[in-house]
Amino acid sequence: MYPDHDCFEGPDFVGIDFSKHKTAVIFHDDFLQHKTGNHPESPQRLVVMKSAIEAHDVNEQVEWIEPGLCEEEDINRCHTRAHLETIKRTAEKASAENSLVWLDPDTPISPDSYRAARRAVGASMMGVDMILRDNYQNIWALCRPPGHHATPERAMGFCLFNNAACGAEYARAKYGIDRVMIIDYDLHHGNGTQDIFYNDSGVLYTSIHQSYHYPGTGHIDEIGSGDGRGFTVNFPVLAQSGDNEFALYAREIIAPIATQYKPQLLIASVGFDAHALDPLGYLQVSTQMFGKFVTLLRSIATELGIGILFTLEGGYSLEAQGEAIVQSLVMSTKNRFDTGDLPAPNRPSPGTLAAQDRLDKALKGIWNL
Ligand SMILES: [Zn+2]
Repeated sequence: MYPDHDCFEGPDFVGIDFSKHKTAVIFHDDFLQHKTGNHPESPQRLVVMKSAIEAHDVNEQVEWIEPGLCEEEDINRCHTRAHLETIKRTAEKASAENSLVWLDPDTPISPDSYRAARRAVGASMMGVDMILRDNYQNIWALCRPPGHHATPERAMGFCLFNNAACGAEYARAKYGIDRVMIIDYDLHHGNGTQDIFYNDSGVLYTSIHQSYHYPGTGHIDEIGSGDGRGFTVNFPVLAQSGDNEFALYAREIIAPIATQYKPQLLIASVGFDAHALDPLGYLQVSTQMFGKFVTLLRSIATELGIGILFTLEGGYSLEAQGEAIVQSLVMSTKNRFDTGDLPAPNRPSPGTLAAQDRLDKALKGIWNL
């Protein structure tokens, strides 16, 4: 029931010297200037993560780098002109009125939000450059506003522009690569990223998320259409799911698909809202599992000889986020690890196994899971 995948447990992998691999964190104070009032998606999230990293030994292992602003064309690869203008004009309105303007009940815009959002897309692009041009293996874009709910036409769910998707499109446009794999482990389904690439086999989007939760998309039978059929892979898990389900997703869904798809770049949409302490969700993922998940992604990337851009989405427990980002960076920078650092075989609930079975059937003939 739990086949081992050579890509992360073979003798060639365990004990590999990763000391030549480089890790960087992309950050800019502009990310703190997207103000949201009394809102869970607050600048304080990044303040806490940055402080936690700086207080830990891992800080000596990473470079801190500031991103530039993206151009409008970099946004327009994923979003309509009308959407871009809405964000720009709404920020101007917020500036003129010196107050927040709400695009929907979840999503506020402040005077500097357009600039912060351009900087967040710029962070993804810089991460792509550092991986594909400068041979970094792990880039962490600690940015906000987050992106994975932003569709081609609209902002929603705290998200303005889709940072992960804009990074993928930039990688294709600038470096001519054909296959990008986006792995979304935020608690919520990344409906925006799914929409942008639903008909596209050049970007494979996969997500684990809490089922029957915001935004209500991400069902198992949403597998893409047209040329993109089979290139959207959703694994919804029930409330109270946690490490077992993440381990199963990592070992039995992500790893075999990556081995078969052979992406040239991994982009991770990282949400720490699946953590057990998170106030907005009902999953039970531990701090340690966030690190093990990173190790699994590194093992896949190493096997394929590619890098990983981690871009921040959600996560609303200030305490959990500080611990989870530190654990993630520790595993990003570790030079040697063993199978104890990887998600272990597990005993998922009958409901999880049923979901896995339905996903196997939905993808039959496309991916060998
Ligand atoms: Zn989320």
